[in-house]
Amino acid sequence: MQNIRQHFPLLSQTLSGRPLVYLDNAATAQKPQAVIDTVNELHASLNGNIHRGVHYMAEQCTARYEAARESVREYINAEKACEVIFTAGATASINLVAFAFGERYVRADDEIVVTEMEHHSNIVPWQLLCERKGATLKVLPFADSGELRVDLLPALLSQKTKLLAVAQVSNVLGTVNPVDEIVRAAHAAGVPVLVDGAQGVQHGRVDVQRMGCDFYAFSGHKIYGPTGIGVLYAKEKFLDEMPPYQGGGDMIKTVTFAKTTYADLPYKFEAGTANYVGAIGLGAAIAFLSTLDPAAMQQQELLLLRRATEQLQDVGGLAIYGNAAHKSSIASFAFGNLHHLDVAQILDKLGIAVRSGTLCAEPVMQHYGLTGMVRASFAFYNTLDEVLALTEGVKKAKKILE
Ligand code: PMP
Repeated sequence: MQNIRQHFPLLSQTLSGRPLVYLDNAATAQKPQAVIDTVNELHASLNGNIHRGVHYMAEQCTARYEAARESVREYINAEKACEVIFTAGATASINLVAFAFGERYVRADDEIVVTEMEHHSNIVPWQLLCERKGATLKVLPFADSGELRVDLLPALLSQKTKLLAVAQVSNVLGTVNPVDEIVRAAHAAGVPVLVDGAQGVQHGRVDVQRMGCDFYAFSGHKIYGPTGIGVLYAKEKFLDEMPPYQGGGDMIKTVTFAKTTYADLPYKFEAGTANYVGAIGLGAAIAFLSTLDPAAMQQQELLLLRRATEQLQDVGGLAIYGNAAHKSSIASFAFGNLHHLDVAQILDKLGIAVRSGTLCAEPVMQHYGLTGMVRASFAFYNTLDEVLALTEGVKKAKKILE
């Protein structure tokens, strides 16, 4: 881990005349040189639209796009490559399921279950589905500690429940949810599960088969890959039964005005020119991650979290939200008397990038009666010095604002 920062050129920049301290990794992660080079190389010398042309560049890009799919399959341990759909990101993946699964399986008076700690991307698509179908959204709450009330799940599930959608890791509270246990409980009630892996996938390999989930969504940009690319993993059975989400080129077998037939999986769900540059860049990110020791990566992230938690608690006047026993490297906090935006702006002037506001999870803010929080999120390339810079910065902000 010691030399890891040299792979990330952005991290050695200065901001406001100070060394950049980048602690907004849950919003987007920075890119290793290998990803930057891959994307540049494609644009500079190998750009050809995939699955169409027979010329050299088209064939090369097609082969590398499919190789990237195989890299994702292996990284998340999907059984088959055709179960890996490239999308624009986690949000697009969840919307795909909400539409296509909803069209196929959800009727009036049915129910969808989400949790109180979901990101808006794992709430609003289900609300839209419920509005379209006359179905109802049910919510599994979390305790003040930030842990899901899994004990309440059996009572929420019934014959009417068509799907449960849950985050693997909360983007506010950092809670690592017991998704294996949740999937088992849901399946026992005959309910399929979508896991939002946007904050889970970047902390080490995922095993969707062991997890047992039916759908798994994530974004490339949070796992050190490019923006505008994401993944939906779905069990083949569902992909076979669900209708296409979008129509267009590449997702068809034959088109006549009388009848159109659809392409085989996974292409049935990849209408139009795919973001093949993004997908190949994501493949490069996964290849880079595969060179790291996952245990060392996680150990570093948890060390940073522990140190940040201790030091922030010493600042006084603030509360850290999310104290689950099993947490990922996210520290969200709020002062009783200071505005989160003011704190984040002072940190910015000190060269420290954090996130502030409702963090795309207003129900979590409502749970605690807050208008927003400040969130520091750590990646394996962050250092203990940066944690110290954060806490010194927070102290300074407190002094100025008080
Ligand atoms: N779910 C969670 C838990 C997230 O943290 C995010 C991103 N903040 C998303 C979904 C949406 O990801 P994207 O905006 O990349 O589609």
